[in-house]
Amino acid sequence: MADSNELRSVPPPHLRRSAAELAAAGFGNLYGTGLRGAVEFFLQRYGPAAAHALVQRLGPGARQHLTPNAPVLGILGTRKYPYAFVGEMIRTMAAVVRAEEDAFIREIAVAGVDATTSTVARIALRYVVKPTDVATHAQTLFSLFHDAGRITITDLTDREYLSHLTEWPNHDLTMCKLGIYAAARLIEQTGVRSVEARREKCISWGHDHCVTRMRWAP
Ligand SMILES: [Zn+2]
Repeated sequence: MADSNELRSVPPPHLRRSAAELAAAGFGNLYGTGLRGAVEFFLQRYGPAAAHALVQRLGPGARQHLTPNAPVLGILGTRKYPYAFVGEMIRTMAAVVRAEEDAFIREIAVAGVDATTSTVARIALRYVVKPTDVATHAQTLFSLFHDAGRITITDLTDREYLSHLTEWPNHDLTMCKLGIYAAARLIEQTGVRSVEARREKCISWGHDHCVTRMRWAP
């Protein structure tokens, strides 16, 4: 298990910074690999007409991140993309295909987890064989996709845990939900039933960080 934990180590307490400091320093982005996967899924599932409508509906700020005629709309795995842009992309995708937004976010998360093909993610996912592994490796898994955010797990039993997400600048509700659905899907893939993910605190509700309770039937 050592090599998966070494993928990205958590900074020691004296190096921790507040979300505001992290935002000012430019943190709070999704790595391109994650977004590329979402766009690839959208293109395959809904086709070029939906992609065209997506680009048309996005605001100019969002459109500057795209190259409409390039493969995968020009999204590069090597770049980082601001949460506000990624959130707008996903919400606009849902609107274009007239999907209920939460159902669509879940669909994207499930597709992303099920089709995770990048080498780094595959190495990390190899260690997820039981639900509690998702808790144990939560930071590594989260940090595969995000350039900020600290996860602390508490109340871990054989049927639930609480996940606390702090030091996460530029909170975006769509991104918050996406991460929770992805964790739920990972737990589900270990073969347990009735996986429930319940947000108990969220920056969108005025809390200072986000807390999710993950629960399953062993
Ligand atoms: Zn949240």
